[in-house]
Amino acid sequence: MSVVDRQEWDVVVVGAGGAGLRAAIEARERGARTAVICKSLFGKAHTVMAEGGIAAAMANANEHDTWQVHFRDTMRGGKFLNQWRMAELHAQEAPDRVWELETWGALFDRTKDGRISQRNFGGHEYPRLAHVGDRTGLELIRTLQQRTVALQQEDFAETGDHESRLKVFQECTVTRILKNGDRVSGVFAYERETGRFLVLQAPAVVLATGGIGKSFKVTSNSWEYTGDGHALALLAGAPLLNMEFVQFHPTGMVWPPSVKGILVTESVRGDGGVLRNSDGRRFMFDYVPDVFKDKYAEAEDEADRWYDDPDDNRRPPELLPRDEVARAINAEVKAGRGSPHGGVFLDVSTRMPAEVIRRRLPSMYHQFKELADVDITAEAMEVGPTCHYVMGGIAVDSDTAAARGVPGLYAAGEVAGGMHGSNRLGGNSLSDLLVFGRRAGRHAAQYAQVLAHRRPPVDDAQVDTAAAEALRPFSAETQGGTDAPENPYALHQELQQTMNDLVGIIRREGEMEQALHRLAALRARARRAGVEGHRQFNPGWHLALDLRNMLLVSECVARSALERTESRGGHTREDHPAMDRAWRNVNLLCALADPTGALAAADPARGQIRLTRERTEPVRPDLLALFEKEELVKYLAEEELYE
Ligand code: FAD
Repeated sequence: MSVVDRQEWDVVVVGAGGAGLRAAIEARERGARTAVICKSLFGKAHTVMAEGGIAAAMANANEHDTWQVHFRDTMRGGKFLNQWRMAELHAQEAPDRVWELETWGALFDRTKDGRISQRNFGGHEYPRLAHVGDRTGLELIRTLQQRTVALQQEDFAETGDHESRLKVFQECTVTRILKNGDRVSGVFAYERETGRFLVLQAPAVVLATGGIGKSFKVTSNSWEYTGDGHALALLAGAPLLNMEFVQFHPTGMVWPPSVKGILVTESVRGDGGVLRNSDGRRFMFDYVPDVFKDKYAEAEDEADRWYDDPDDNRRPPELLPRDEVARAINAEVKAGRGSPHGGVFLDVSTRMPAEVIRRRLPSMYHQFKELADVDITAEAMEVGPTCHYVMGGIAVDSDTAAARGVPGLYAAGEVAGGMHGSNRLGGNSLSDLLVFGRRAGRHAAQYAQVLAHRRPPVDDAQVDTAAAEALRPFSAETQGGTDAPENPYALHQELQQTMNDLVGIIRREGEMEQALHRLAALRARARRAGVEGHRQFNPGWHLALDLRNMLLVSECVARSALERTESRGGHTREDHPAMDRAWRNVNLLCALADPTGALAAADPARGQIRLTRERTEPVRPDLLALFEKEELVKYLAEEELYE
């Protein structure tokens, strides 16, 4: 057997971004011996790349802000498909989570009178994003790491071992959740550097693995984001919710080709940047949808006055939710009014003095100078949509973050579904990580405590199967009969191109059907993905293993997108362009069609996902009462209004 290390923990957290670290800290503080596993180096996660800030109704920049207004904005942004209880908890608890970070050593930018400064962002009625320049995620991760080390030092003082109660396994990839009957019993992983296998036995596992962007060609996501947690949950028997909702951030770099997709933070627009087409027109005024008409300015002078007098003017349309802005940019480019490299212009140079730009947007200044040789204090940036975030994810209980149907499995952060409905507002991810990371850690620790004396043992047969699955790429040539092994890099490129072209920002029925056919063919070929060399740091092998996850998740996105015959948030159908109230209360759930894998072994091209519809839980009346009736009419299904 190739397993070299077996360890016992109470809680295993998969992922060391904001959600994973917050969960681990909570679980350890509640007495659970906690292991954290991350695929990349400790500290290298998407969270560290977050730029704009954390959304929390602290009312520092506008005294009218409250959790109720934040809740309303979040529901509007998600077009009312949010799991409303999550949106409620998130809006209520986010300010405490920001304060908590300060008590652990974070230092946010300040207002003149010394309070935490808050900036504007799309879809937020008031300035709400607590920030550290445009490097907020870095401060968040630094603080959570510092807290982790502080707890390890406490443990050292008591036990003589820093890692006795909280240990980080970095550069380790989890490939399977292990189960005993229905219950979680641990995880199977490999060390990226040595290729050795690892089994961590634990009654509770928290998935906090982030997003799926690497299934798309143009993306702001980095190499780790191959949908692992989504796939691990599916394979363990937990369903995924509303996977059709993928956020295309409106502003990614479009030039030069080597950096296409890298994010241009929304803070640029929050701080006054404007979008123009090749005619020099601020085109966003032409794209304000009816549901938002009373909240956004109709002309440039009102929009510009809003920055100084937000109470008496309406917001600039550049600050509409991301889905609206991304679609508008797409339409301008399609109409031939794009920039030379297929984007539009985003300009701060004519809106702020150079020294203010360098102070408020230091990362953007350097990013454009170094990667594109563009000085954003003197000229406009070229930007276009980039695949950024997945709203769909593991179906969880709102209060406990427990994954549905698999006792002992929890999920928090981007990998969990529900919180953001069909579209996430900027800044609502960092707050989501902290609020639900903490909740997942707490409930996982409690669950582990209950099972302290009857921990589900690990089934050795499952470990052998997981090891054999992981080693398969080394013997691909002996499995494919006459066919030669497939190159994992080539398969990945074809997958990314398929998702980008056929299930991208604007979707059509025929194209999505074509995508499902291509995915089936890729799935069959991926079973023959072969690698040379050995198990010591072998990126081709790692990618071959990640392909399973990307193919599973891509099928979920394509099948759900084909099923939902309307346009809502991060799902735009050219053949069904309007939001349909009849779909408001419908969730789409993806589960594994063939849980034993027997059918797939016989026919790898066979679809792996079974889709079911489910009614959403009716929104609690006191929360509905926070909205004007006229507004609800735009969103709610006929029968909901009647009720
Ligand atoms: P991540 O931070 O993505 O961490 C995932 C962790 O899981 C990593 O440690 C990874 O190594 C690990 N992992 C993955 N798979 C495995 C596996 N198989 N085995 C072991 N470990 C695994 N949101 C905001 O609210 N405000 C912003 O200003 C903002 N700016 C952003 C800027 C950029 C460039 C990007 C890409 C995103 C931004 N976001 C922002 C979104 C936000 O950063 C992410 O949604 C959020 O950080 C996700 O956090 P997470 O804890 O869920 O996962």
